Amino acid sequence: MVAPRTETRRDCRGQKNRIESAAMSDQADRLIRVAEQLIETDMLLGGEFIPAGGTPAPEIVPEATPAPGPRAKLPEYTPTQKADMLKNLNEEVRNCTECQLGDSRTNTVFGEGDPGANLMFVGEAPGADEDASGRPFVGRAGALLTKMIEAMGLTREDVFICNMLKCRPPNNRAPGPQELQCCWSFLVRQLQIIQPKVIVTLGNPATHGLLDTKVGITKLRGNWQSLPNIGDGLEGIDVMPTFHPAYVLRQYTPDNRQKVWSDLQAVMDKLGLKPPKKK
Ligand code: SF4
Repeated sequence: MVAPRTETRRDCRGQKNRIESAAMSDQADRLIRVAEQLIETDMLLGGEFIPAGGTPAPEIVPEATPAPGPRAKLPEYTPTQKADMLKNLNEEVRNCTECQLGDSRTNTVFGEGDPGANLMFVGEAPGADEDASGRPFVGRAGALLTKMIEAMGLTREDVFICNMLKCRPPNNRAPGPQELQCCWSFLVRQLQIIQPKVIVTLGNPATHGLLDTKVGITKLRGNWQSLPNIGDGLEGIDVMPTFHPAYVLRQYTPDNRQKVWSDLQAVMDKLGLKPPKKK
C-alpha cells in the first residue's frame, strides 16, 4: 500500500529531524574535538606553560656522549669574544652596500639573541616591520615565533634569530640570487661565531638556501637534516626545517600548528630541553 503523502511527508520530516539531530550531534562532537585540539595546541604554543613572572630556565640534561660535530674544527671562543665578534660583524653589515638592497633599506637587520646560543632560527629576509625597527621577526609572525620559543621553555634572548638576508627587499619581493649571494658570507660568519648545535630553518627559502636543496618544506619538515659544507667547521650541524610563522598564521589550522610543535619538540629532545612546567 502506498502511504498517504502527508504521512510520507511526516515520516520524511521525522527521518529528516532524526538525521539532522544525529548530524548536529556529530557536528557537536567534531566541534568539541576541534576545540579541545585548539586548546591543547594553544597551550603548547601559547603562554599556558609560562609561569607568571617569567619563563623558567629550561633544565639541560647532560648528553651521554658529546655530539660529534663541526665545533672541534672551529676555534673555541669565550662568550665575550663571541659578543665582540658579532658586534664587529654587525658594524660591517650596517655599512654594507654590496647589493642594491643597501639603497632601499631603512635599517639593516643583523639578528639578535645570545651570541653563544645552542639554537638558531633562520628565516629568509626582513619584512617591513623588521626594516623599520632593525630587529628580526617582529610583527605578527615575530609574535608567533616568540610564542613558539617560549613554548620550548626559552626566551628570545636564549636563542639567536636572524635571516639569510640582512636588508629588506622592497615591497617584500623575493630576494634575487645575486642579493642572496652577496649577503651569504654574513650568515656563514654568524654561524661560525655562534656555533649553534641546532639550526631551525623557517620556511622554504631558508631551508633551500641552507641545505642547498629544492625539496619542499612539507616533505623536509620534521626530519633532521645535516648542514652541508657551507663554510669552515659548519658541515654536519643539525638542521630542523619547519614552517615559517607567517605561513602558520595564514594557514592557522590545528594540523599545521601541531606539526610545528612536533618539530620544536624534536629540537628540545636534541638539545636536552625539558618542557616548562605547567602553572
Ligand atoms: S642585503 Fe646584505 S649584501 Fe645586500 S646591502 Fe644588505 S647587508 Fe649588504
